[in-house]
Amino acid sequence: MAVFGHKEFHDHERVVYGYHKESGLRAIISIHNSNLGPALGGCRMIPYVNDDDALTDVLRLSRGMTYKAAMAKVPYGGGKAVILGDPTKDKTEALLCAMGRFIHSFGGEYISGEDMNISVADCKVMARETLHIGGIAETPTGGDPSPMTAYGVEMAIRAALFHRYHTNSLTGKKIHVEGNGKVGPPLAEGLVAAGAEVFVTDINIERERKAVADLGVISVSNDFLTSYDELDVYAPCALGKAVNDENVGKITAKIVCGAANNILENPENGETLKERGIVYVPDYVANCGGLIDIYYQNTGYDVEKAHAHTKSVAYDMTLKILSAARNLNCTTLF
Ligand code: NAD
Repeated sequence: MAVFGHKEFHDHERVVYGYHKESGLRAIISIHNSNLGPALGGCRMIPYVNDDDALTDVLRLSRGMTYKAAMAKVPYGGGKAVILGDPTKDKTEALLCAMGRFIHSFGGEYISGEDMNISVADCKVMARETLHIGGIAETPTGGDPSPMTAYGVEMAIRAALFHRYHTNSLTGKKIHVEGNGKVGPPLAEGLVAAGAEVFVTDINIERERKAVADLGVISVSNDFLTSYDELDVYAPCALGKAVNDENVGKITAKIVCGAANNILENPENGETLKERGIVYVPDYVANCGGLIDIYYQNTGYDVEKAHAHTKSVAYDMTLKILSAARNLNCTTLF
């Protein structure tokens, strides 16, 4: 499989494949750029359709982490890890330990952590084999950076609302949160508490039902995003490519802002959103809270500082990006 000729290859420094026969581990770690420090980025486990899908994902994700760390002004480079497999069947202690050893082989040049289908508990298993795991410190959330990510997304949504409606109030705003994993629920909870009407979807029906039961949100069908005319904000908090060639011309929301990495399938989707007057907040700004949380976990945790730092990026930086894009008449992708 070609790496240097891959369409998502953009000067990545290292792309390493890891295999461990006994545990069945098949994984890729990608370091995009380490100019600012060791590459940091979580590890996800997905039953990718094929190896090339996994490579595409890790190349895109690690590059996004470079931008995120630079925007957040934390001394890290961009990296990411993907494990190829079904987390419901293949995620064993032996596999996670093998992944820990794979991470350790980078000698600290890559620092891992939680991401899709990899929890704090999973990270603690990997940490038996390596010191280079973030997101497991003794914090009020037990090391889970997801609530800080959710806080940042709420701040970015408020900034986008201010840009669009000249008020950052969430009262009465109609917001679709896609994905009820680690980030979706704390985001929905904060939005509901601030007076928003929140709609949720998840391919995992139990998680969706739990969100409805616990959070006062409304369950909707998959075509809601393109059929409900009054939607103010679409907040993708599941997989990437949430905005894609198929739906970009039909999305009804006025704002797209969520936690998912790589929300746009391609840059052309950003052009279409702009042409349709839809505000797009770059994902690596909106979801900076998790990275900032890990930074404070690694340097002495202070929850107030972590919140203030997250707000300064997710709210203030979003406002700057949106007004710069408006003044320059360009997309927010730059
Ligand atoms: P998670 O694995 O805990 O949850 C993802 C949820 O999305 C699951 O409930 C899953 O069933 C659901 N889902 C998957 N495909 C879906 C689809 N097509 N439609 C609706 N729901 C679907 O992941 P998470 O930690 O909550 O992260 C969510 C997104 O945010 C990911 O893209 C992740 O990379 C990104 N992110 C997370 C953090 C963090 O702190 N956890 C930080 C930055 C970015």
